[in-house]
Amino acid sequence: MRKPIVAGNWKMHGCIEDVRDLLTQVKSIQCEATVIVFPPFVFLPLAEAVLKDSDICWGGQNLATDTQGAFTGEVSADMLKDFACEYVLIGHSERRAIYKECDADVAKKFTMAQRAGLTPMLCVGESQAQRESGETNSVVLSQLQAVIDVVGISALANAVVAYEPVWAIGTGLTATPEQAQAVHATIREHFAKIDVTIAAELRILYGGSVKAENAKELFAQPDIDGGLVGGASLKADSFAAICAAA
Ligand code: PEP
Repeated sequence: MRKPIVAGNWKMHGCIEDVRDLLTQVKSIQCEATVIVFPPFVFLPLAEAVLKDSDICWGGQNLATDTQGAFTGEVSADMLKDFACEYVLIGHSERRAIYKECDADVAKKFTMAQRAGLTPMLCVGESQAQRESGETNSVVLSQLQAVIDVVGISALANAVVAYEPVWAIGTGLTATPEQAQAVHATIREHFAKIDVTIAAELRILYGGSVKAENAKELFAQPDIDGGLVGGASLKADSFAAICAAA
């Protein structure tokens, strides 16, 4: 039985007062799923202060490919651990598109996360043009395989995958439950060819304009184990409703 996860990616939103309020409201969410929030780095000490002794987990939205040194503006895996992060987002499409992170960077970050004892949440997904030209499965599987080739399949036992079609992120366009399920099943089948147990236990989240209104139908799909939520995670009410749907 895979325990669902609902994760909120707060991106670069909020000021200290807003984030304190949101953390305080999120702290009272009670549901069957594991709930995780990813606030901006500077608010991680606040997340730790508010959420410690609660069931809510927190993590970083990114991490450095190196452990320490002259890397201005970067945050290492050990620094995230210092603020009791358990998870870290890796390879979010905004990192890949805006900051030009390639598959090799993503694999390196995955390695750094696990080395420090963080659970990577590995994001993959196709663009609109790739979907229209029938490349969805090949793009998603090659993004995953690039990481497996470096870390080995056994590393996926301590990781989460998030399928996030780029055309659905922040656009209000959501993959239909059938479209999302088809890709999730393809991912699980690909893993099963390498390791049946890891495939069966791997949590695969859907991300891309998940809202209170569509969460239940998405999460009811057999291979969808919860969601990675952007915009709708910034309001405690809508995030709580999505958590309840898991
Ligand atoms: C995301 O940023 O991972 C995301 C899924 O955003 P949104 O829910 O706003 O589409």
